[in-house]
Amino acid sequence: MKEHRARKRFGQNFLQDKSIIQDIVRAVRPQPEDTVIEIGPGLAAITGPLAMTVNKLHVIEIDRDIVARLRTLPFASKLLIHEGDVLQFDFNTVPGKKKIVGNLPYNISTPLLFRFGQYADDIIDMHFMLQKEVVERMVAVAGSNDYGRLSVMLQYFFEMENLLNVPPRAFIPAPKVDSAVVRMIPQRGRIGIAEDFNHFAALVKQAFQQRRKTIHNNLKESVDDAALMAVGIDPGSRPERITPELYVALSNHLLHNGASV
Ligand code: SAM
Repeated sequence: MKEHRARKRFGQNFLQDKSIIQDIVRAVRPQPEDTVIEIGPGLAAITGPLAMTVNKLHVIEIDRDIVARLRTLPFASKLLIHEGDVLQFDFNTVPGKKKIVGNLPYNISTPLLFRFGQYADDIIDMHFMLQKEVVERMVAVAGSNDYGRLSVMLQYFFEMENLLNVPPRAFIPAPKVDSAVVRMIPQRGRIGIAEDFNHFAALVKQAFQQRRKTIHNNLKESVDDAALMAVGIDPGSRPERITPELYVALSNHLLHNGASV
């Protein structure tokens, strides 16, 4: 088969560093009976070692040429290939509790991450290679520069850990940015339960509309200072100083008091 030319529009940066591939597979710890889904198998750098362990491996791949290659691999009979866009993929069509893995295309990583919350109850864990800067935002704690809407919305569903930093030279072609591998484990309830998730999500979005403004300013159209103070938020705080727990508490408080966002 002729050599595959990396396609920029599909975020194709192929992992070539064997020790990093090994570190990722070790972190995933796949067992033969596990339901494992790999997003974007590409030239099978991670797919190969995963397929050595598991009985069946689901892979989701958008690039037709790559799908054709996957079908010719020696372990192709182990693969359940879902050809198409992962942003449209309904993970509920794969039964059972899942482990999800991927060296993700960086151009779609944020919208993709936001989708996983809805599947959290059926996920064992997820391991993703992402832009380092995105991983830093995911795991950031309130008060730090990287903390924002992504941190709050993902920390609501998942406990996350930055496992490993990965330099550009680990890939071909080398990306312009550093990368990192993050582990995400569902932990809903750890920071409280939002009684109306959509209300909570809309509130957080509005709270971070303008980072440089105070929470009072960002929410002034819909939330009065008394409500902020009732849950222990200083109206003069910046949104990035407010913990995920307090956003959940504020959303629930507003619901109980008949306020919308
Ligand atoms: N896993 C391989 C590796 O580590 O070398 C490839 C990783 S590469 C960064 C991203 C992979 O995701 C590519 O194979 C690309 O074709 C695929 N991809 C890009 N956009 C996608 C999408 N929307 N849905 C499914 N796969 C996608």
